[in-house]
Amino acid sequence: MAVSKRVEPQTASSANSPIAFIDLAAQQARIRPNLDRAIKKVLDHGQYIMGPEVGELERKLAAFTGARHAITVSSGTDALLMVLMAKGVGRGDAVICPAFTYTATPECIALLGATPVFAEVREDTFNLDANALPDALEAARRQGLKPRAIMAVDLFGQPADYDTILPFAREHDLFVVSDAAQSFGAAYKGRNVGTFGLATATSFFPAKPLGCYGDGGAVFTDDDKLADTMRSIRLHGKGDDKYDIVRVGINGRLDTMQAAILIEKLAIFDDEIRARQRIAERYTRSLDNLVATPHVPDGLSSVWAQYTIKLPAGKRDGVMKALADRGVPTAVYYPRGLQEQTAYKDCPVSIRGVEVATRLPREVLSLPMHPYLDEATQQRITEAVKDVLMH
Ligand SMILES: *Cc1c(COP(=O)(O)O)cnc(C)c1O
Repeated sequence: MAVSKRVEPQTASSANSPIAFIDLAAQQARIRPNLDRAIKKVLDHGQYIMGPEVGELERKLAAFTGARHAITVSSGTDALLMVLMAKGVGRGDAVICPAFTYTATPECIALLGATPVFAEVREDTFNLDANALPDALEAARRQGLKPRAIMAVDLFGQPADYDTILPFAREHDLFVVSDAAQSFGAAYKGRNVGTFGLATATSFFPAKPLGCYGDGGAVFTDDDKLADTMRSIRLHGKGDDKYDIVRVGINGRLDTMQAAILIEKLAIFDDEIRARQRIAERYTRSLDNLVATPHVPDGLSSVWAQYTIKLPAGKRDGVMKALADRGVPTAVYYPRGLQEQTAYKDCPVSIRGVEVATRLPREVLSLPMHPYLDEATQQRITEAVKDVLMH
């Protein structure tokens, strides 16, 4: 996900002021005194690595999600990697993941020598099509691979179909890792993201719903043993003391400075989530009769990392350009299915193919989305979309 260019916060939206795709400056302006204080505190105590803010943030993240353990880490990618490392995933193992997601999802599987198996996604939610999981499992078996896990992705901020994915995984002795890099703060049937499957990984990359000012992430789990193993992996595989190394680990820590920043951002996160939901509802109300707007199944809530519409494949790029000409920035997440990427083209694909995951990259268009998108600016965006689509 790209971080937008820095745009000054918009107090009043004038007809010509630039529109931010994600406006991080407006959020910063809101909490700047608190951030300054928090950063100064870290500079004063000087514990840049595993300082007191790291533990404080972990307690707050655990409370926020309801997960037993929250372990902060250096990025969302490392969060995913550490779960797979802790479970001993490696050569000969298959991990099923959606074909339509960010590169980091299959990357951590491949880094360990295991094989990502690409599964079909749903047309309406962009998430894993749970009904197509048997086809993906069969693809893994035909290659002689041992299916170990499903990595479900909560794309664009909406939880995947866990009610179907979790029982399927249990039946086939697979564990489930939730790639919640885009969905931290969302909920699924009364439960918060962070509490599904064996473990949940999230990212605090600046443009994610809860972002820091650099790289960061966290893993959530209720499993005490897994949590211990991941804490060890995070510190180069340490055992009882720093120089007792019991496994191969990584340098996977979150900086104290980023933890201090995240504590301040978490304090306003609930309010920001409500703002995101209001903004998404406004988009849907004004665009629903014109384009395919995102579908949120009953009982789910999205945190709207992206608000993504679908356009006919042949029209999408023209619409994108016409919107840019009208000063409306948009983005395509993601321009290709993973099965089409050079690095992953030899990976197994679900036996009945991934037609939807091949088509969506040509149809999707994400509109500006952040909690500080004021009504007047949003109206400029929706008017521009209407104008472009009518002509
Ligand atoms: C951003 C993202 C990641 C990786 O997070 P980083 O913090 O950038 O490493 C993984 N999966 C998905 C779906 C993402 O959007």
